[in-house]
Order: sequence, then structure tokens, then C-alpha cells
Amino acid sequence: MPRDPRFDVLFEPVRIGPVTAPNRFYQVPHCTGMGYRRPRSLAALREMKAEGGWGTVCTEYTSIHPSSDDEPYPTGSLWDDEDIDWQALMVDKVHAHGALAGVELWHGGPASANLYSRETPLGPSSLPAGINDPVQTRAMDKADIRELKRWHVDAALRAQRAGFDIVYVYAVHFYLLHHFLLPSNQRSDEYGGSLENRARLLRELIVETKEAVGDTCAVAVRFSASSGGDDNDQDTAEPREMLELLSDLPDLWDITVHDYSYEMGTSRFVKEAGLETTMSWVKSVTDKPVVSVGRFTSPETMLRLVRQGVIDLIGAARPSIADPFLPQKIAEGRDDEIRECIGCNICYIGDQTGTPIRCTQNPTMGEEWRKGWHPENIPVKGSDAKVLIVGGGPAGLEAAVSLGKRGYEVTLAEARRELGGRVTLESALPGLAEWARVRDWRLNQIGKLPNVEFYRESVVDEEQILEFAADRVVIATGAKWRRDGMGRWHEAPIPGWDAPSVITPDDIMEGVMPTGPVVVFDDDHYYMGGVIAEVLRRAGLDVTLATPANEVSTWTKLTEEQYRIQAKILGLGIVLETGTAMTRVGEGSVTLESIHTGQTKEVEAATVVMTTSRLPQDALYHALADRIAIQRIGDCDAPGTIATAVYSGHRYAREMDTEVPIGVPFRRE
Ligand code: ADP
Ligand code: SF4
Repeated sequence: MPRDPRFDVLFEPVRIGPVTAPNRFYQVPHCTGMGYRRPRSLAALREMKAEGGWGTVCTEYTSIHPSSDDEPYPTGSLWDDEDIDWQALMVDKVHAHGALAGVELWHGGPASANLYSRETPLGPSSLPAGINDPVQTRAMDKADIRELKRWHVDAALRAQRAGFDIVYVYAVHFYLLHHFLLPSNQRSDEYGGSLENRARLLRELIVETKEAVGDTCAVAVRFSASSGGDDNDQDTAEPREMLELLSDLPDLWDITVHDYSYEMGTSRFVKEAGLETTMSWVKSVTDKPVVSVGRFTSPETMLRLVRQGVIDLIGAARPSIADPFLPQKIAEGRDDEIRECIGCNICYIGDQTGTPIRCTQNPTMGEEWRKGWHPENIPVKGSDAKVLIVGGGPAGLEAAVSLGKRGYEVTLAEARRELGGRVTLESALPGLAEWARVRDWRLNQIGKLPNVEFYRESVVDEEQILEFAADRVVIATGAKWRRDGMGRWHEAPIPGWDAPSVITPDDIMEGVMPTGPVVVFDDDHYYMGGVIAEVLRRAGLDVTLATPANEVSTWTKLTEEQYRIQAKILGLGIVLETGTAMTRVGEGSVTLESIHTGQTKEVEAATVVMTTSRLPQDALYHALADRIAIQRIGDCDAPGTIATAVYSGHRYAREMDTEVPIGVPFRRE
């Protein structure tokens, strides 16, 4: 189908200083958990974006000097000439598809504890460094500032030699330059105090970087549009004054805010185009092109923002991760095939843990080089085997789509009327509606595959599977929350767990509305405990959320939403009992015990919701395991995230009738 001519504007070239972006699709710098440690994986990942039509593809934060090291998180680096070759690897691959390559030069300043390099952290003043690390920065003197400028210019020159087209000056996210800009910078010299003084270092770096590489490279500035950086704090006065001061100095403004949980907020808290109101003034104070992000997956939204003069370039990290081929799909009028990001931030845990990036929607993310997986292409089938998949959750649906694309004849049986499994149930919980995209994209794809058929409301048993006589059977029957309270803290069932007052999140998702007061016991630590507490509180019940962790939903620190969840829980008036185990379920009450002091207390509870761990629904698998060619995937194999279920379904489909390496299942750098 030809593309809607209205979208032609998205494919117009945009001049950025001495270079020209071939279209408006701009992959802003984003982390991958690969950095200098995994350069081949990284180059292949970035290449995929360029192949998919992103006109500009940037690196992650790229350290200019050992005094800015972020270990254990692998950053990019341009510390010396040895870094040039591996950076060029990515540049060449991006250029091969006609895209521009950008590098985000970075000095972490107080954000870097320098655990690897052991260099002294640097800051405008003596500030706490790292993330609660018991070290501080040295207050930079004039010699330090001169050195910093030299490092930046040297790194820019190396970037130019590696072939980059765009070089960043990175002035946000509480890294070094941002600390110079903040009102807290009260240095007594010309680099602190007044607004003009605080902006001086940024100005000098823009000028000197342009002098060094501006003949061939555009110089971009990444900058915060708000002082508070929080969606409740729309104070843009000071950033506006600063931007006016620097207005046309750089070749491109990359506008964001400095609170990551807002800038890249999960869909539970921030919707598409979330930064629009905060940054819509920027183009009125500069003639230079502006790029900004907003988890854009709708071409209509992109078009509107360009037309309204809010942005010139469609910035994207997550939408380009979930679908590296998003621009190509719009170009070809296949917008309905865009694999839309669901805003879960599973991709961010790679950065947060120093491990390769993965994505819920796109199981090939991070596997481009080490497994040779391509998000759009999959090898044709290796046999005429007929496949029966039992269970239509994310694992079963992904296996069906990918096997179908390979050309296998696939039958999928799902017990319920609605396909989607846990995704369908969980997307009905507050804030999680966009998660349904995991199901919807797959159903849309299946609709285009004549060789995949599915049966709803078909509870399949052992006999029916045998009768169906498929060549391969895939069990994707998922998992259920356990009622007995066993999990990370309690290794044995909690006494009294089998009382009728004890239910699980599955019951709530099936529509059970219990009587209050309710105690939600969360030993899972991801989103479920907090979301269930929210559902019950919004229904007007008195709710206590007890957890052995020292904060609610502690794992969501990695998805950058823990603070927001805790604020929501407390704001709703849910009583939070942290550092707390549950030692007994009684009649109308539970016994809670402090994991720190052992002190106990009785809390009234007409209902207890156990949110601790899950039991794989693997009875069918075990009944047939020795009798037919059968495999389990997804939560039925091992309960995990939606991302792990999708990955498991995809892997099954990829590996069928292929020779899977024995031992390490992927290439290593
Ligand atoms: P996963 O995350 O691994 O995909 P889910 O729990 O989301 O797992 O989905 C499992 C799906 O399997 C659910 O939709 C469930 O209704 C379905 N299911 C479970 N047992 C059977 C069965 N015996 N026959 C058909 N479908 C089943
Ligand atoms: Fe979007 Fe989630 Fe994929 Fe990240 S992991 S790109 S948030 S779908």
C-alpha cells in the first residue's frame, strides 16, 4: 500500500549545520548495556535502526575521559585513539544505509564515582558523587576546566576521525555540564553564580567543539526544557532564558527534561508526547532544528508536532527499540504493522544492570549480532511439520506468529474467549492499558498469515492433543499466582494460607472484588503488588501493603518508576508496611513480623492477597513429555516477565528445525 501523502513531510530531509538528515526520524542517544564491552553487538543493533529507515542514529553516552567512568554500566568511550576503530564499526554500518551517525560525548561529573578508573570525580563544587557512593567530587579549579575543554575537543576530533556526522555537547541529566547550569552552582568565579556565568562552560564547549570539528560535523546540545524536570513542575523560565542566550550557537537542540522517570516514563505514568507542553516554546527562541522525544508510535502525532512547529525531528529511543523498522513501515503505508512500544521500560534494565538491552515487543533486540536475529526477517521453515500450540498468551502468540512467518502450518488453541493470556488480563489494571499492544500486534500479524489458525474457548486436554496428532506440540499454558505465600522470603507455606479469605491477583483480575480491610502481601517486588493494592484502594477498601523489601515494588527502580509507584501508593492512602513478613493468616487478621527486629503485630484483614510467586501450569507438558515431540515455553516453562515469555516463544520458533549450537547458544565478543 502506498503511504498516505500527508506523511510525506516526515520523509523530508533536514539540514543540521554542515550535514543533512535524510528524513525526520532521529534515534536519539540511548543506552544498550553494551558500550565499549560489546562493540560488535552494538554496531549490529545500530545498523538495524538505519536499515529500518531511521535517518539519524546516535550512540549511547560516550565518555570523553577516565575521570568520567560509569562502571559497572558499560558506556561508549573515546578516551584515546584506540577507541576510534570500534566506534567506526558502528558509523560505517549506519552510513551504509544512508543515515547520519551521532555521538553523545559525555562527562558524568558528580554522577560518576569512577569505581573502575579510580580517578577523582569532578564537579563545579565538592558534591556527593555516584549513586549514594561515599565519595565526593573535587571542586574543579581553572586548570581542571581547561583540561575538561581539552578532553572534549580531543574526543570530538576522535569522533570526527571515526566518521561521526553529529557530535553532542551533553548538558542534562545531572551530569557535569548540567551541574554547572543549575542554580546550585554558586562558584565565586566566572563559571558560577549568575545565569550567564553558569551557562559559560556550555557556551565555551559549543564554540570550541564547533571550531574543532564544525567543518564536517554538526554540533548538537542536549538540554533540559524545565527546571524541575518533573511533570508536576513546569517551571521553564530559567531554561528558556539560557536557551535564549545560546539560541543559534549549536546546530541542533536535542530537548528533554532531567527527570528520567518523566522523560522516559513508563506508560503507567506518562503517555505519548508527554514532553510536549514542557518544551513547546523551544522553537520560538531558536532558528536551529529541534529534536525531542515522546514515545512516538503514531504517525499522526508525529505529523501534528512537526506541523505545529514543536519539533523538526522525531526523536525516539524506545519506539526505535520496539520497532527498528518503524520509519520504513510508515514509508510503505504499513503503519498498522508498527510494533508499538508498550512503555514498560524493560529495555532500560539493560542499562541499569550493565547487561545487553532487551525489549518486550521486539525479541530480536540485542540478538542482532550474537544470534543473527533480524526483527523483520526469519528463515523459512526447515520441514513440513505441523505445529499445535496450546495457550494464546504472549509466548504462544509470538511462537504462532514467528512459526507462521517461517511457513509452518500452525494451530493455536486457547481456553478463553480472549487471546492474549496475562497481557489481556493485566492490561485491564490501572495504567497498563498499552500493554495490550503485545497481543494486538501479534493478532494483526496472525490475521495476515493464512497458515496460522486459532481456536478460542478451546480447553485442550491430553487426549485431544494426542488425537490432533501434530508433529510438534508447544505448551504455552502460562502460570498462576500461588496462594500459599511461598516466595523469596517464605520458603514454606504461611500457616493459615488455605483459609477462604486468602486470594491471589489472578482472582482480582478475574473480577473478584473482596471485602475489606485487605492486606496485600508482596514478595514479588515488581509491579503486581502495587497495582493490586491500587485497584482495591480505588474500590474504596482499606488496604495495607506489606512487603519484606524496604520499599514498594523495589525491582521497578530498574524501570525508573519506583518513586512514582511509592508516591502513588502513599497518595492513595494505602498503608505501607515495609521490611515486613507475614507469619500467620488468622481469622479476620494476619500476623506481620518486622524482618529487622522480629517484632510482631496483628493487622485486621478480611482478605489477604498473596502476591509472592507463581506456579507454572505445566501438567499437560508433564503428562505427555515422554510420549510425543513436545516443548514448554513462556511462563509454563519458567514464570517471568512478559518480555521473557515473548522471547521464549520467538526462540522456539527460530530454532525449530535448525542446528542450535551445543553449549553457549550465542557468539561472544
Ligand atoms: P505466557 O506468558 O507464557 O504466554 P499466559 O499465562 O499469558 O502465559 O498465557 C497462557 C494462556 O494459556 C492463557 O490464555 C490460558 O487461558 C491458556 N491455557 C492454559 N491452559 C490451557 C489449555 N489446557 N488449553 C488451552 N489454553 C490454555
Ligand atoms: Fe518499549 Fe518496553 Fe520495548 Fe522498552 S522494552 S522499547 S518500553 S516495549
